[in-house]
Amino acid sequence: MRNFFSLVAAALLAGLTQTATLQAQAPDNYCGTHQTEADLQWLRAWQADPARFAEFRRAEEDQILPVKVHIVGTDDGSGYYRLDLLMEAFCDLNVQYEATGFHFYIHGDINYINNTAYYSHDYFNGSRMMLENNIQQMINIYFVNDPSGACGYYTYGPDAIAIAKSCAGDGNSTIAHEIGHYFSLPHTFYGWEFGTVTEPAREKVARTNCNGAADGFCGTGPDYAPYRWNCPTTGPFTDPDGVSFVPDGTFYMSYSNDACTDKFSDDQQAAMHDFLNEEREDLLVRAAPSLYTHTLVEPAEPLNGTIGTAYNYTVLKWSKEANASGYQVSVALNASMTAITHEAIVDDTVYILPELTKDRKHYWRVKPLSKGNTCTPYSSIQEFTTGEIASGLIDFAAGTNALRAFPNPLSSGQPLTIQFDSPTAMEMTASLLSMDGRMLASQSINALSGENRVAWNLPELPEGLYLLELVSTNRSDNNQRYLHKVAISR
Ligand SMILES: [Zn+2]
Repeated sequence: MRNFFSLVAAALLAGLTQTATLQAQAPDNYCGTHQTEADLQWLRAWQADPARFAEFRRAEEDQILPVKVHIVGTDDGSGYYRLDLLMEAFCDLNVQYEATGFHFYIHGDINYINNTAYYSHDYFNGSRMMLENNIQQMINIYFVNDPSGACGYYTYGPDAIAIAKSCAGDGNSTIAHEIGHYFSLPHTFYGWEFGTVTEPAREKVARTNCNGAADGFCGTGPDYAPYRWNCPTTGPFTDPDGVSFVPDGTFYMSYSNDACTDKFSDDQQAAMHDFLNEEREDLLVRAAPSLYTHTLVEPAEPLNGTIGTAYNYTVLKWSKEANASGYQVSVALNASMTAITHEAIVDDTVYILPELTKDRKHYWRVKPLSKGNTCTPYSSIQEFTTGEIASGLIDFAAGTNALRAFPNPLSSGQPLTIQFDSPTAMEMTASLLSMDGRMLASQSINALSGENRVAWNLPELPEGLYLLELVSTNRSDNNQRYLHKVAISR
């Protein structure tokens, strides 16, 4: 039986979730991680052997660790955690972990999940979400609206972290805290969480019982404050020797406010490294990426202040940055870049916006990225105003996910790969049409039953938005027809 089922709160939260999601408010509970002595077996054995800490020598190189980011939205795909905030959160996380020798990077694409029951979830649905989506050999972090009424939690069963969007903004340290749990650390006030305090939780100021009391780390000192508090002061508390004290609120594993926290103790750090090497060596199977620094990128098109870009085809372009493996671009309706309409991580220096509001001013900015570095500042904010499009529009409503075309956008001269499922073997015709319906190229395809993947070498075409049509050649006996937008960039 997984320990989270034993939480009395779980059943209660399940009933409360529906009403609670309607209001965006700070969670009542900072951390929803539930740890028992059974969960801390590895740590207790480590702490029982003081030589482990005394002889600990950190690797000279940073441990560069992959994180799989899952961003959860509602069933209709709204409410996603913003990419610009994600970039900032990872930058902050690496600053917070700088002294530990751990460095985190986002591995691969972000996994977007549309599921209202996961967006605001109880522990049961949170576990389902994790078991369905976790990727092995990475730290799995889920950004959701409401992780069981907490700012975040790490859970042992599915072995993943959930974080509330509202606790992953500027100046937050929730992610740093939950990753501390992920690497074996208890709260500094361990033993005080659930009301009934036993003697081992009463760590002494004199450090005479620190190795066996509370979190078992002598480096963190006594802490009897299992609630959110503003440092420098809560309490004072009195230890078993009658000594009055105030806990140290600078530890990430305490419950002092985020602004107070700035460290892991040396013994906490040693335990995290040994835990990584002994219990989480799977995180080290990938070759560590090189860490790069970046210069700012320069926006190029449309020129700042342009009026009349095509509302269904505005192309953003910027300068290439030598060490960038990608770029994060955001488009918003306001100059403070909070009303974001489009955002993406792209690997080229171009981003095509096919759907914007007509006659509306838009703002955009872009920054270079590479694995482990999301900290480079954004470009200056640029603006443009949409207008009409020159040629007639085709209704894209007939488009279907059954046909995929990539890469999209396509660079001129590059082959287009078309992927689709066909119910039977049949002869089909692929056509590339201009926006006003003129046929520019066509090709016959002998489709096989099941999945098909065809590379098509298109003629040189000017940059623009095109319609790809795939239709069964014998229309009388089968009406298979797919439409798909394709953009071609220079
Ligand atoms: Zn915690």
